[in-house]
Amino acid sequence: MPQKLEQIYEGKAKKLFRTDDPNLVIHYFKDDATAFNALKKGTIVDKGIMNNTLSTVIFQYLEKRGVKTHFVKKLSDREMLSKKVQIIPVEVVVRNVLAGSLAKKLGREEGEQLKKPVVEFYYKDDALGDPMVNADHVLAFGWATKQELAAITKSALEVGKLLTAFFAKKGIRLVDFKLEFGRHKGKVLLADEFSPDTSRLWDMKSGEKMDKDRFRRDLGKVEESYSEVVRRVTGK
Ligand code: UDP
Repeated sequence: MPQKLEQIYEGKAKKLFRTDDPNLVIHYFKDDATAFNALKKGTIVDKGIMNNTLSTVIFQYLEKRGVKTHFVKKLSDREMLSKKVQIIPVEVVVRNVLAGSLAKKLGREEGEQLKKPVVEFYYKDDALGDPMVNADHVLAFGWATKQELAAITKSALEVGKLLTAFFAKKGIRLVDFKLEFGRHKGKVLLADEFSPDTSRLWDMKSGEKMDKDRFRRDLGKVEESYSEVVRRVTGK
């Protein structure tokens, strides 16, 4: 078992620790919640435990179906062992259903089924508020190579296909989600997390939101919704 060493980074929702193996890191999932580029701050009780559980189930599901991820092992309630990656500074959003910033931008109602999945890129820079960019920007600024971008796009669409089916079986509509990728030994791996913090999950019957929009929009029942997602995904 790798030894947990000092903290190397603290993000909005996770802390990252070095281990005695230079190829492995430990993620610690926190309860801190932020929205609107950290203008809104709060706590979602036990979110770290729930997001670690959900990310574990989902990374294992994806790995089994051929998606390369950084996931190695769940170590404890809040800790995940993963391959150390160099994060590519591009957030990849995949949309199946119109919601959030795109609905606002186009002045259309949330909930419109899109005729095909939409892949969007955002340059990871908190100070700039993660501006939207396109594939040419990613290449022109050297954030990823052409090969890496092709691998990222293919993987993001595959994740969308696999997880849409996965959540549908749990009575959940996968509306949209955000992924991050990193480099490990020359290969691109799916990294970061998959959780209700980074996706939109709507109950298929009622249309109720079961994700971070409950926190962002003060809809109440935030913890209850996260734990309902965990219950449906783990069957516990
Ligand atoms: N998202 C995220 N981190 C971000 C921005 C967006 O995880 O910094 C997720 C968000 O939860 C949603 C999807 O990406 O599942 C699309 O978000 P959108 O562009 O609609 O932005 P938002 O409405 O969150 O501002």
